[in-house]
Amino acid sequence: MRVTGTFAATRAGYRGRVGLVPTMGFFHEGHLALIEAARERADTVVVSLFVNPLQFNDPADLARYPRDLERDAALAGASGADLLFSPPPEEMYPAPVAVRVSLPALSAELEGAHRPGHLDGVAVVVAKLYAGLRPDLAFFGRKDAQQLALVTRLAADLSFPLQVIGCPTLREADGLALSSRNVFLASGDRAAALSLSRGLLAAADAAEAGERSGAVLEGLVAAELATAGLAAEYVALADAATATRIPALDRVAFLAVAARVGAVRLIDNVFLDPAGAADRGDRLDRPSFLYAKGS
Ligand code: AMP
Repeated sequence: MRVTGTFAATRAGYRGRVGLVPTMGFFHEGHLALIEAARERADTVVVSLFVNPLQFNDPADLARYPRDLERDAALAGASGADLLFSPPPEEMYPAPVAVRVSLPALSAELEGAHRPGHLDGVAVVVAKLYAGLRPDLAFFGRKDAQQLALVTRLAADLSFPLQVIGCPTLREADGLALSSRNVFLASGDRAAALSLSRGLLAAADAAEAGERSGAVLEGLVAAELATAGLAAEYVALADAATATRIPALDRVAFLAVAARVGAVRLIDNVFLDPAGAADRGDRLDRPSFLYAKGS
């Protein structure tokens, strides 16, 4: 695997179908599962690693975002990446971006309502990755469900000739969705953090048993959080393609939750399909290596 710093040097390493996995690094098994999914479907797997300042609405969150390029390069290579595109800020933003990329119809609610500017920052950087790296396939996690809706619509609306593929959420054995920010969870907060996935999984069971009311499904999640002493920023049943709230499960949707647990803001969701099974994500059968370093 080669580490590259420019769009041109990255493209020079291509052969055949190119699969892109955009990331902000500090890899966990969720990232590695995306790389493995790309490896199965593409001839060249490019992983991009860029901590994009434009998508951080909180400067403190950007300053402490975990980084470890050497470790990430080893993990990406072992998972089947051919190229790790890790550009310096000057390659991504040679000048302040005058262009604005935003998808207001998909960004008004959920994360868009609680992290002002975040999704616009994602849209700009993903548009630049699509244009600069020109992949045939782009792999994103369902963990960031609204982001997945946005980057899918971005490609369609701007005619980027690529297919976006959404991949299941990787979870710890106890249900906690993997996240680079989990290293900041105090050990005493972990039990409370589990209420997010517990509530979502209970709601997925209810949906599979026939429950269609958004209020009821959302209430199951809110009740689990309340039991753990947490207040959700939001719990919302949303149309999977538009990330807008819907009153009833009458189409493919996701049930999403965001909450602060101690010093960490966590998000999680399950995808629900009234015609079939819920996607609860995939569980590791052992503790994540994120915690193995004793962080
Ligand atoms: P990030 O580095 O957090 O920007 O995430 C890079 C990609 O990994 C995004 O497409 C995320 O949705 C995806 N991702 C993050 N957490 C998980 C997870 N637990 N399982 C699967 N994919 C994930």
